[in-house]
Amino acid sequence: EPEPIYLITPTYARFTQKADMTRLLYTLMHVESLHWIIIEDHDEKTELITKFIERIPTDIQVTHLNMKTPPMDKLASDDPSWLKPRGVQQRNAAIEFLIKHYQESPEGYVYFLDDDNTYDIRIFDEIRKIEEDQVGVWPVGIVGKLRYEGPVCSNGEVTSWFTAWKPDRPFPIDMAGFAVRLENFLGSPEARFKQRVPRGYQESHILTELGLDRTNAVGLANNCRDVLVWHTRTEKPRMDAEEKLMKATGAASD
Ligand code: UDP
Ligand code: MN
Repeated sequence: EPEPIYLITPTYARFTQKADMTRLLYTLMHVESLHWIIIEDHDEKTELITKFIERIPTDIQVTHLNMKTPPMDKLASDDPSWLKPRGVQQRNAAIEFLIKHYQESPEGYVYFLDDDNTYDIRIFDEIRKIEEDQVGVWPVGIVGKLRYEGPVCSNGEVTSWFTAWKPDRPFPIDMAGFAVRLENFLGSPEARFKQRVPRGYQESHILTELGLDRTNAVGLANNCRDVLVWHTRTEKPRMDAEEKLMKATGAASD
């Protein structure tokens, strides 16, 4: 049995939530030894996600948490997406869960898995190559106004970073573009994401808090030549007709 990969997924209620989570689940069902930590951005565990989790095959371990983003930190649905970071307190709740429960079994890896991205299952084999005090890094597709963004490597060594946006960040990468060993979180138990960091600095912030810098980076995914993860985003559906019909018929929909 390979070491577990702890997948940390914040998720919030919206019309496409079940579709996004179902697609993600069907990817994960092809991978062994996963522990999926799902943290709802909600003040309680919702029925939708509770029922969704009941249907997850038992070979995927699941932990269901909830942590509501305080209103002052919450992105309104008509705010531009870059205004506030998303998923911060949810990811922190998952980190706290890991620190609390895994001091005695520190094997495994941690990967932050957003609910609307697209993952090639080969990324999980890459994650299992990460060694102590390394941060595994790889390119992420369709992000930063590029076809892909990420490290440039030679023999696993990162020689430069292919990024157009804020290239001077300690780690100029996306949340989907790195993973570490669980030991790193257990060894830096105070490390947390922060609601207030400059835009684009979440990844750099947490990795710096873990005591890692660019010299710890190891390039995976065929020397950073393969794109195995895409920062896809699900379009927000229009509901004008739905609202009209609902009013006209008084019908309920789910
Ligand atoms: N998320 C959340 N609460 C929110 C907005 C987003 O928990 O109010 C989650 C979302 O489900 C996803 C992650 O945070 O797993 C990143 O959000 P999103 O995909 O909207 O960010 P983007 O793709 O724009 O970076
Ligand atoms: Mn997203």
